[in-house]
Amino acid sequence: MTAQLSGVSSGTALDTVLELRDVVKEYGRATPVRALDGVNLRVDAGELVAVVGPSGSGKSTLLNLMGALDRPTRGSVSIAGHDLAGLDDRALSALRGERIGFVFQQFNLIDGLSALDNVATALLYRGVSKRERRVAAAAALERVGLDRRATHRPSELSGGECQRVAIARAIVGDPAIVLADEPTGNLDTRTGAGVVDLLRALNDAGRSIVVITHDQALASSFPRQVEIRDGRVVHDGPWSGVEHTSQVRA
Ligand code: ADP
Repeated sequence: MTAQLSGVSSGTALDTVLELRDVVKEYGRATPVRALDGVNLRVDAGELVAVVGPSGSGKSTLLNLMGALDRPTRGSVSIAGHDLAGLDDRALSALRGERIGFVFQQFNLIDGLSALDNVATALLYRGVSKRERRVAAAAALERVGLDRRATHRPSELSGGECQRVAIARAIVGDPAIVLADEPTGNLDTRTGAGVVDLLRALNDAGRSIVVITHDQALASSFPRQVEIRDGRVVHDGPWSGVEHTSQVRA
């Protein structure tokens, strides 16, 4: 699978890691629901971006497109230099596995596996040995401050620790971008703040991160905030202190 994506770097400074152009996404055929309505969005390497919007605004749809989990109805989506339109399903799944790290609200860890093995499984299809996978997983757990919990199973870890394991799993393969879907949604405020601090530290170290959230307070603490309403980007830039309803700010 690696061969299908060779020749494109996972992102150095100033590279564009994600670009959506005039993206429309509709569900259904007879009376289609337009979930995204002409979205333009570019994320460069090293950015930390919050995508914020109320329920039903199109955040999950956007995440599915940014994560190569779905294709647009119209317009183009490009991830780490690959236009999704040019990829068959196999290449699309290779792109997901190699270039994108996912973090979910519910952590999505495997209960029967230790923290170390949960992280190592992210490298299963990379063609590296089990030993190499475990060495890389141990390093990723260290990055998130959980090296001393490596042998623990998810049921033996707190919610915040589980999310740190999930973040380690997302970064272990050195993806071009990390997409976090409501990463604090299942955590109390203090634990959630710790997870956000970790994402910020990873970003300070150069990692590109997009966080999807309905939490305006969380989003407003990020350097760049993309707000969507009714499938359209109504704000893109630093937090301005007001909620937007119709206008796009540069
Ligand atoms: P959010 O994540 O912000 O809550 P979604 O992307 O889930 O928003 O939904 C955007 C719009 O698209 C909503 O009107 C929703 O009902 C609709 N929608 C989402 N997924 C589907 C689907 N599979 N089929 C039909 N409509 C959908």
